[in-house]
Amino acid sequence: MLNVKNITFGYRKTNVLNDVSFSVSKGEHLSIIGESGSGKSTLLKLLYGEYDLSEGQIIWNEKKILGPNYNLVVGYDFIKYVSQEFDLMPFTSVEENVGKFLSNFFPKEKKNRINELLEVVELEDFAKFKVKNLSGGQKQRVALARAIAKEPEIILLDEPFSHIDNFKKQSLRRKLFRHLKEKKITCIVATHDKGDVLGYADSMLVLHDSMIETYGSPQTLFTNPKTPLIASFFDEFNLIDDTIVYAHQLKVVDKSEIEVVVKQSYFKGHYFLIESFFNNEIIFFEHSNCLANNTKVCIDFK
Ligand code: ADP
Ligand code: MG
Repeated sequence: MLNVKNITFGYRKTNVLNDVSFSVSKGEHLSIIGESGSGKSTLLKLLYGEYDLSEGQIIWNEKKILGPNYNLVVGYDFIKYVSQEFDLMPFTSVEENVGKFLSNFFPKEKKNRINELLEVVELEDFAKFKVKNLSGGQKQRVALARAIAKEPEIILLDEPFSHIDNFKKQSLRRKLFRHLKEKKITCIVATHDKGDVLGYADSMLVLHDSMIETYGSPQTLFTNPKTPLIASFFDEFNLIDDTIVYAHQLKVVDKSEIEVVVKQSYFKGHYFLIESFFNNEIIFFEHSNCLANNTKVCIDFK
């Protein structure tokens, strides 16, 4: 169990995080979301022991996680942290990077483990490549493989798929998160991508104004978003009489009190997002077909 108790931290005078508390159980997958600059990376770095807290404490089981004032070497063996910068060894091969923390004592086991890891991140064909010759997305995958190589108790991932293209992202997410669940590795992921959260995270925490704006399961937060910030993370929405209404909660009907004028239709794959005017206010709703600009239609709740 990871226990974060009332932590406060700032790089300078102003606090980036203010009185933040939460806990994560073994094998749980927690997503940390928030706008750029909201302190997601800072929080992960604090969990890793990269900085000293101004106040509060972080405890993993019985062990206190401490910063550089108390530790000669930053970090802990049982935690792996994949930063947004990866920190790889550029002039050595992919397999050497992945195997960096694995013992040389059992060369055959080491080789097998490296192959298994390369399979998880789909880099089998690049084992002998030097890291400096890889693309950003490939480097990120090497960093992920290296972090899980020795099965840490906790893994901290900072926007783990941000450099990976859409072609690979879906399958890589499934493989990596399934792997972590199977090994019961506690996983904390900072992200601004709902694709990293929905379908994978057990719980999520929203950072805003240096505090936790809300905490709960993705289902609860999606179904009942308490603030526009939370709704905007998930989907297009409207504020109607101070109530958050997702675009997918509205539909075109034959007759209703709400007659709107279509401003623009956006192709979204299996549906169109329609931007419309209702008394000078913008209303978004979803529709199966494209609607021509300036068409008048009635909409209502589903
Ligand atoms: P996020 O990951 O959510 O985008 P960060 O944790 O990187 O946010 O940053 C939170 C705030 O702390 C920002 O205002 C950022 O400018 C500031 N910050 C981050 N790193 C440093 C640093 N090393 N020194 C000073 N300020 C920093
Ligand atoms: Mg960040």
